Amino acid sequence: MTALAALLAARIAATGPMTLAEYMADCLLHPQHGYYATRDPFGRGGDFTTAPEISQMFGELVGLCLAQAWLDQGAPTPFTLAELGPGRGTLMADALRATRGVPGLHAAAQVVLVEASPTLRQVQRATLKDHPVTWADGVEALPDAPLFLIANEFFDALPIRQFTRQGQAWAETVVGLAGDRLTLGKTAPTPLAALSHRLADTAEGDVVELCPAAAPIMGQIGTRIAARGGAALIIDYGDWRSQGDTFQALRDHRFVDPLAAPGDADLTAHVDFEALAQASAPARASRMITQGAWLERLGIGARAERLARGLTGAALQSHLAAHRRLTGATEMGSLFKALALYPSSFPPPPGFDA
Ligand code: SAH
Repeated sequence: MTALAALLAARIAATGPMTLAEYMADCLLHPQHGYYATRDPFGRGGDFTTAPEISQMFGELVGLCLAQAWLDQGAPTPFTLAELGPGRGTLMADALRATRGVPGLHAAAQVVLVEASPTLRQVQRATLKDHPVTWADGVEALPDAPLFLIANEFFDALPIRQFTRQGQAWAETVVGLAGDRLTLGKTAPTPLAALSHRLADTAEGDVVELCPAAAPIMGQIGTRIAARGGAALIIDYGDWRSQGDTFQALRDHRFVDPLAAPGDADLTAHVDFEALAQASAPARASRMITQGAWLERLGIGARAERLARGLTGAALQSHLAAHRRLTGATEMGSLFKALALYPSSFPPPPGFDA
């Protein structure tokens, strides 16, 4: 049993079963035992690999997309260049390198990273040592300035609640105890105002998920972008209106039982882009697009070809595989989606449809 499992079991024994959201929050961010709080989980030696860790092309195109949006809005100066959950800082480093040649952009940008994990803040500091960056605990602490923001695989890490339909009511999935072992159970069904719109598109036994932390974050970002200008790019796995049980645990690049080793596995859920878009008023939300189609519109083909020219042998093969992995329909290309927020007075950022 992990130290965190013992702690959670004692708490459940004392106060009763906990929601998945409470369980996820402790597993990911408990100050002593949380998954992100205690380690750098990325890459081949870690538990999972994200798009910026697969290829430099990802961060470069994200950076150029935001730079073009900044130019389209008249190059407001100064502005905040923010990232939510920057991981190792690789995406921001690639974005900054790719935008070096954009006149005035680096001088105008104040880079702010929203990161909960002290361990990952250290890694980000090292990756971005050539740039002045500051950290914020949440979006509400971002400067009052035009906001150009990126969130890649951030929202999937936010705690979710999960419900199963029973009649016109919903039974919530909770973590309880069987002896001293953590086990999943369900509450008695109760009607839920937050899910009344899901009575129309679900049937008996269907599972839906809510991410209560996401809407306030999107609202803050949307309010700033509408008031001060800017754009937000949100990229993650999920779909428009999620359905089904998507609560999952990854360890050593494999799916594992989410209750087996709390604090030692990454816990995530698919992102409901409809809920994100709806919470983004008064900013405008683009149409959702697949990651593969978006990267192709941004010119990943040409960039991949250019990089391939300097490569041979194993390095070339791995570059070609990385390109396929980011855009291929059976890899990340279709499962991952992108959504942009922007002010109603400007066009959407490159690659997005209004
Ligand atoms: N964007 C990075 C990392 C994704 S993993 C990449 O693409 O590689 C999720 C990141 O979000 C980690 O950096 C994690 O520490 C951070 N994170 C998770 N929950 C958070 C929260 N509530 N507030 C701030 N950061 C959080």
